[in-house]
Amino acid sequence: MNDVHNFNAGPAALPKQALERAQKELVNFDGTGMSVMELSHRGDTYDRIHTHAIKKIRKLLDVPDDYHILFLQGGASLQFPMVPMNFLDSQATYILTGAWSEKALAEAKHFGKTVIGASGKDGNYKQIPALNQISEHAQDSYVHMTSNNTIYGTQWHAFPNTKAPLVCDMSSDIFSRRIPVNQFGLIYAGAQKNLGPSGVTLVLIQDAFLQRAKSGLPAMLSYDTFVKSNSLYNTPPVFSIYMLGLVLDWLEESGGLTEIENRNKAKAQLLYEAIDESDGFYIGHAAQDSRSNMNVTFTLANDALTSVFLQEAKEAGFVGLNGHRSVGGLRASIYNAVPYASCEALVDFMKQFKNKHAE
Ligand code: PLP
Repeated sequence: MNDVHNFNAGPAALPKQALERAQKELVNFDGTGMSVMELSHRGDTYDRIHTHAIKKIRKLLDVPDDYHILFLQGGASLQFPMVPMNFLDSQATYILTGAWSEKALAEAKHFGKTVIGASGKDGNYKQIPALNQISEHAQDSYVHMTSNNTIYGTQWHAFPNTKAPLVCDMSSDIFSRRIPVNQFGLIYAGAQKNLGPSGVTLVLIQDAFLQRAKSGLPAMLSYDTFVKSNSLYNTPPVFSIYMLGLVLDWLEESGGLTEIENRNKAKAQLLYEAIDESDGFYIGHAAQDSRSNMNVTFTLANDALTSVFLQEAKEAGFVGLNGHRSVGGLRASIYNAVPYASCEALVDFMKQFKNKHAE
């Protein structure tokens, strides 16, 4: 099958334009006679790729000058312990909005005292806590949150103004909208949703926050190591960083974050309308005010039809619509590279499926 509608949660759809350019350059990058994977990471050609990616991030996300832009490895999952290892002193506050924030909290417990500043767990993570429900202390080493909850399909639409530095896992919505970077001490994101292939983790860290980091840590687990070496302390994931640069070229040519944010809202609205106007055939998981523009989660009122839906969707060319194994139901992940036309096709399919199976 050549043409699929890719709704995978991550690794996820990438812009065709970026993939085609990579294909063209694969065996002979920029006249070197080598692929990017074969270049020395200490050479001039790779240096241009590395610098290009960093520049694009700073420009498109409007990253202030006092923030360092780092490329790490180990996925967002390694950030869960790395943040507390570097910064947890007396106490850190964690805001729980789903399984990924729970994992971040569990790792922090290895390093010191944690408190829960707000939690949506009792409500099965259907809702993002109200900003005025968050409790934290100015003395906290940091407050940790997750901007978009990939599994539950909820998203923060405004960020808390915390007294302590705010640390945010933005793995599943970075570069999907404009964000006030200066409200955060540290932002991290695995690349494999909106930024490129897996293998690279983007970290933005404010210099003033970095100054609070502990010393005496293993080099590979210290942010300072990567700041001082421009993320070239050891061999970086060169191909992932190269692809990230191509994806950001595409994003810029598509009109940048304002345009992509509008597109993402329009795609999400299309799907949520189909759910809301289905007379209860489809049921949205997230509370209306907490709905994610990246992951649309829903169930069928008749759960026995879920497997039928997935089978028929597969036959019709839709990929990745099964909900996360911990939640069940259905999920359409509509990251930046998923075209509006794929969302329209899904809505048509959902309507036809309902007409065929509604009692
Ligand atoms: N945080 C969020 C919000 C995620 O969606 C994911 C993966 O899907 C992760 C963390 C884990 O990322 P990684 O697989 O890069 O460790």
